[in-house]
Amino acid sequence: MKTLIVNSGSSSIKYQLIDVTSFDVLQSGEAAQIGFPGSYIRSKSKTRMKHINVALPDHEAGIRMVLSGLLDPDIGVIKSLDEIGAVGHRIVHGGKYFDGPAIVDDDVLDKIKKLIKLAPLHNDAAAKGIEACMHQMQGIPQVVSFDTAFHMTIPPEHHTYALPYEYYTDYDVRKYGFHGISHDYVSRRVAALMGRRRESMRIVSCHLGNGGSICAIKKGKSFDTSMGFTPLDGIMMGTRCGSIDPAIIPFIMEEKDLTPQEMDAILNRESGLLGVSGISNDIREIDEARYSGNYRADLALKMYAESVRRYIGAFAFEMGGCDALTITAGIGQNSAMMRRMILEHMEGFGIVCDWEANANVGAKDCAISTEGSPIQVYVIHTNEEYIIAKDCERLCAKPEEIAFDKDPLKEPAKDFDTSKGIPFIEE
Ligand code: AMP
Repeated sequence: MKTLIVNSGSSSIKYQLIDVTSFDVLQSGEAAQIGFPGSYIRSKSKTRMKHINVALPDHEAGIRMVLSGLLDPDIGVIKSLDEIGAVGHRIVHGGKYFDGPAIVDDDVLDKIKKLIKLAPLHNDAAAKGIEACMHQMQGIPQVVSFDTAFHMTIPPEHHTYALPYEYYTDYDVRKYGFHGISHDYVSRRVAALMGRRRESMRIVSCHLGNGGSICAIKKGKSFDTSMGFTPLDGIMMGTRCGSIDPAIIPFIMEEKDLTPQEMDAILNRESGLLGVSGISNDIREIDEARYSGNYRADLALKMYAESVRRYIGAFAFEMGGCDALTITAGIGQNSAMMRRMILEHMEGFGIVCDWEANANVGAKDCAISTEGSPIQVYVIHTNEEYIIAKDCERLCAKPEEIAFDKDPLKEPAKDFDTSKGIPFIEE
C-alpha cells in the first residue's frame, strides 16, 4: 500500500509518499510560502529533484501542486491517485478526544477545528490541509495521527494542575503533552534494538529539537511528559522558556505594560536558548560563541543541559527506575557536546557512557552507554512518518496488503544494525 503523509503548517505543506510494505520513501517534497509572495513547490524522488516557482494562495492550491508533483511525468512516481491507499495527516492537538489515530469524518474534522483555540497555528493549518485533500482525493481515506494521543494514558495525578478543579472540568485545562508520535516511535525502536518487549520496560525518551520534550514511558505507555497544556512547558527550548515560576508572567506584564498576546510571543519566540544567549536558538552558534568566552552562551548551554537532567531524574524516580534512556531530534541526534553535558557524571545514577561512541554517532541508531551500564542510553533517529504510515495501514489496508505482523516489535526496521546481533523478540 502507498501512503501519502502530509504535514500542514501555517505556510507550508511537507509530504512523503511511502510504500508501507517496504517502508521506502518514493517521493517527498514541500509546498512552501503558501499565502506569501515567492511561493514554490519542491519535489524529490529517488533520483531527481524539481523546483517550480508557483503562486500558492492557499492550502487548496498547495495540495493541488503536491498531487500534480506526484503525477508529474518528469518526477512523479505514480500514474493515478488511485494508487494511494490512504493519506496520513500529522495533527498536533487531539485534545481529550483522541487517544489514537482516526479516519476523518465530519465529527473528527469538527473536533480538530474545535481544538484550534488550544493550538491556533497548528490545528487550523492541519484542518485546511485535510479539507483540501478531501476535495481533491475523493474516495481516498484520510487518517489523522495526533501528537497528543500517545499521552492520553498519563494518569490524573500527573496530568492535573494544582489549580481550582473547575478549570479542569469546565475548560479542559490539563497536561496534554506533545511529540507523542516521536516518543512512541523512539520507544518502540529502542525496545527492538535491545531485544526486549516495550511493555516490560521503563524508558525516558528525550526529544531534543528546537522544541523539546521528555517523556516517561512505563510498560509501553506514556506515564508523564514535560510539555503540558501547551508546548511551552517543560525543558528550556530554542526560543521557548519551558517551566518558569508562573508569577513572573503577571509581574513582567505589569512592569512592561504588555498585552497577553505580547507576553505569549515573548515566552514562545524570544526566550529559551535565544533569550538567554542573546545569540541564536541554534546550539551550534551558541557553542561557537562559548568558545570565544561569551558568558551568556556558556550559561544558556549549561541551563539547557540542567533542564533536561532535571526531567530525566524526576521521570526515572516517578517510574521507580529506568531501563533505557533515548535521545533524538536535531540536538539529540547531532550534538555530541550537548549529549555529554547532559549525561556526564551520572555513573552513581546508573548511566555509564562510552564517550568514544558518543563522539562517533552517525546516521545509524546506536548505544552510547557501555555494555554494563545499568541504564542503557541510545541515540535514535526519530521517524514520525513511520508511525503515521503504520496508523494508515492499520486503519485502511486490506488484510492482503499488510506486509508484517501488526506487532511493531516484530517488524524489522530498515536500518536495523545487524552488526550488534540484537534479535527481535519473537513471542
Ligand atoms: P529540530 O527541531 O529537531 O529540527 O532541531 C533543530 C535544532 O537542532 C537546531 O536549532 C540546532 O540547535 C540543532 N542541530 C541541528 N543540526 C545540528 C548539528 N549538525 N549539530 C548540532 N546541533 C544541530
